[in-house]
Amino acid sequence: MKITIASGKGGTGKSTVAANLACTLALSREVALVDCDVEEPNLHLFFPAAAVDVPVTTPVPEIDLARCTFCGECGKFCRFGALSVLKDRVLVFPELCHSCGGCSLVCPQGAIEEVPRTVGRVACSCPLPSLTLISGVLNEGEVQAPAVIRAAKLLAEGHPLTLYDASPGIACPVIETLEGSDVCVLVTESTPFGLHDLRLAAEVAEGVGIPAGVVINRSDGQDEATLDFCRERGLPILMTIPFSREIAAVQNRGGLICRDLPGWEGRFAGLFDAIVKIAGVSP
Ligand code: SF4
Ligand code: SF4
Repeated sequence: MKITIASGKGGTGKSTVAANLACTLALSREVALVDCDVEEPNLHLFFPAAAVDVPVTTPVPEIDLARCTFCGECGKFCRFGALSVLKDRVLVFPELCHSCGGCSLVCPQGAIEEVPRTVGRVACSCPLPSLTLISGVLNEGEVQAPAVIRAAKLLAEGHPLTLYDASPGIACPVIETLEGSDVCVLVTESTPFGLHDLRLAAEVAEGVGIPAGVVINRSDGQDEATLDFCRERGLPILMTIPFSREIAAVQNRGGLICRDLPGWEGRFAGLFDAIVKIAGVSP
């Protein structure tokens, strides 16, 4: 079973929910937790442990100038502006390349070879006996977040229960993370901004055709607008985490409330039961 934890915006507590859920589940079963927020992965802060790094590469073109006739076909084809053909050379901008492979197909001289370029890494660790943490890390300045997310998800393949912590927002990396998931948990907070972004995130989950439910975080008890929206859209409320100094104190020191505060392990176990119910698949 694959569960994506997502949110329409940053700072809602998405990673906190993912970490607490994974930690609770790892008490009774094997769990893989995948940090797909590859631009700012932070789950390792909850689970410090020695990690093994696997580089992530993507293919980029390399021009064989001995064969190239500077015909310009590759430059015309590349819609990402990653190739510029001049009179006597071809400029390649690897950081703009999306590795579609098209330029090597259109080159009439067979002058383009694809060579690997490192865009990030995947760090694997086992911080708890039944928990595998797989963190995607995109190199600074790179745009190929989906490639790193795919690599991280691939390393988790075969685990019976996998949690994906998505990037905040609704852009390509979130779609890449949702791909293949059985269910999506949308983490929100009851503010006008939170509701606006929940609306967008719910549309994405619906568009991808994945059942979703909502966790309200830092609730001040005035959740009517969020509850009304969820009722209208048929989104079940899976859990409500109140705003409390005690919870904030645990989180501020990088702790997990399922470990440090009484009753929360049971509540996260209940969250999993609610997720299984909406997913409609066996865990
Ligand atoms: S398509 Fe091939 S031959 Fe034409 S400019 Fe590009 S690399 Fe050179
Ligand atoms: S592989 Fe695709 S994106 Fe990259 S340079 Fe070639 S045509 Fe452009």
